[in-house]
Amino acid sequence: MSRFYGYVCRKCGARVYPRHWRCPSCGATELETVPLEGIATLLTFTRIYMLSLAFHERFITLGIVEFENGLRALGKLLVEEPRVGMKLEVTTGTVRVDNGNPIEGLCFCESSEDRLLTKSQ
Ligand SMILES: [Zn+2]
Repeated sequence: MSRFYGYVCRKCGARVYPRHWRCPSCGATELETVPLEGIATLLTFTRIYMLSLAFHERFITLGIVEFENGLRALGKLLVEEPRVGMKLEVTTGTVRVDNGNPIEGLCFCESSEDRLLTKSQ
């Protein structure tokens, strides 16, 4: 199960990630946690090449995904050739290294559902 959580406003139902102190839609302060899990669809992505020394890669790929419940989140893509609309699953991975210590963060990998869809095309 995912260690990452999204937040749902108890007043208006808006879904946000990461946590905000106030709901961006209505300003309410009571937000309920919901696990980031299940299948998400890739909405857009970008590659970043000019990285600080905290990154031990030539580039990283960041993507914005949308979960089936409408929640959107930004995370690192662990996919060689991302495609808008592809199906992804939540995972964790090293997003950077701080003083030799790996820092884990929200990542997305190709879902088995997407692999099946790709094969059948
Ligand atoms: Zn709200």
